[in-house]
Amino acid sequence: MSAQTNHVVIVAGAGPAGLAVAASLGKAGHDVIILNRDIKFGGLAEYGIFPSKLKLRGGLRKQYWELLEQPNIHYLGNVSIGKEKDLTVEELRGLGASAVVFSIGAQGTKAIGVEGDSAHGVFHAKDVVYHFNRLPGFGDRPFNVGKHVAVIGAGDVMVDIAHWLVRYKKVERVTAIVRRGPAERKYNPKEIRAVCANMDVEGIKKEFTRIKDRLVAVGQNPDEIFKSLTGEFTKCEPKVSDAKMGFQFLASPKRILVDANNQVRGLEMEENKLEPKGADTAAVGLKQLYEFPCDSVVFAVGDKVDETVGLPYKGGVFVTNPNKTANEPDDALFQAYDEASGKIVEGVFLAGWARKASEGLVGIAKRDGDWCAEVVIRYLGTRTTGSQAKAVLDKLHALLQERKSRPVDVKALRILESAEQKQQGATECIGEFKFVTNQEMIGLIDRG
Ligand SMILES: Cc1cc2nc3c(=O)[nH]c(=O)nc-3n(C[C@H](O)[C@H](O)[C@H](O)COP(=O)(O)OP(=O)(O)OC[C@H]3O[C@@H](n4cnc5c(N)ncnc54)[C@H](O)[C@@H]3O)c2cc1C
Repeated sequence: MSAQTNHVVIVAGAGPAGLAVAASLGKAGHDVIILNRDIKFGGLAEYGIFPSKLKLRGGLRKQYWELLEQPNIHYLGNVSIGKEKDLTVEELRGLGASAVVFSIGAQGTKAIGVEGDSAHGVFHAKDVVYHFNRLPGFGDRPFNVGKHVAVIGAGDVMVDIAHWLVRYKKVERVTAIVRRGPAERKYNPKEIRAVCANMDVEGIKKEFTRIKDRLVAVGQNPDEIFKSLTGEFTKCEPKVSDAKMGFQFLASPKRILVDANNQVRGLEMEENKLEPKGADTAAVGLKQLYEFPCDSVVFAVGDKVDETVGLPYKGGVFVTNPNKTANEPDDALFQAYDEASGKIVEGVFLAGWARKASEGLVGIAKRDGDWCAEVVIRYLGTRTTGSQAKAVLDKLHALLQERKSRPVDVKALRILESAEQKQQGATECIGEFKFVTNQEMIGLIDRG
């Protein structure tokens, strides 16, 4: 390890991006204080990735434990940053650290703004994913889906939701609602294995017949696309329910239709056609509306950042410096930027999904964290030595105490881990036991 430099960096958010930033900065000899909303570290690697991916999740957890037990890495979970949270952005900046990195993911909900989206039976994918992964605040909330669920989206998150609905909720039917056509599907073929035993291939064939002319109109070959889409239905996980899964292509939901009790009874859908857009295609509405019956809707259309945190925000993202630098990676991409003053927010950086919402898998978030750390290290090189870690930590603890916050350190996390391992029985679809409220977890830690 290189010589201790006395710089202290605060990293807000302990998902794959923030932990990658911390690992690089720690290796470079800096002290890193990690503050995380959740008691447990890992972000979506803990509370997003489908629970049955035990190997992936286990490997990441092991890596993260090793990092957090390093002497120059100081972890505090159960600390949220934002307006009316444990600490504001300004308070964080005032603690005396040389830099602050925000890697808090994309916690906002991206609504497509259709009428009726507050009806009973309408859900957002991230909430559902948090629910089945037992994130406190979501794990014990009821998510009562009906018999026929429309999942809006065509990516891996849509498949994860379908996976849960087909294999665990055992609903009767799941329909993926896709704005463009089957050639523009975005999910990874490997992911579809979780649900392909339940595919309604006859129904999919009929759907291809329905949209055939619109595919041909943009030079696509419906027979070839059908072959490639259904050809991915191999190595399917064994069937455990009679649920049927299908697709509705070239369809944009315009309105959620409800009954007298404000319960979903269907979607008003607009037919789309495809138009060439460079090498890609775009969906164009045909103004032909029809009713699509279903009793629940899950939006799996990506996420946006949480605009209430208090960082410069515009149009679903935190604002970064528009003035490119010649450096590689470009510092500007990671620097928070205040458009009102036309200046960067001094010493404040962004990484991972907080910088680019819903962008890629764990590996991409990690790489973003690595790049961000390079930028921060370059920045630290321009600074005179900052405060000592102890001084920053003392100030932080005093402030948290004043707020009556209850931070959870790594030692406490080990107590929690061992208590969870001693519990009998895995929770639905998790494959392991997880406490579902912060209260239970903190109670356990306090009893030691
Ligand atoms: C449903 C779903 C399934 C996925 N499946 C896979 C998969 O199978 N394989 C794969 O490789 N990738 C998968 N991904 C992608 C992967 O999870 C992300 O790429 C990665 O987790 C993003 O990392 P991040 O650190 O930027 O954000 P996150 O993982 O979201 O971490 C953000 C962290 O910030 C904390 N935080 C949030 N707000 C605050 C705040 N205000 N103050 C303090 N802390 C805060 C949170 O507690 C969290 O720990 C999946 C994603 C989703 C949504």
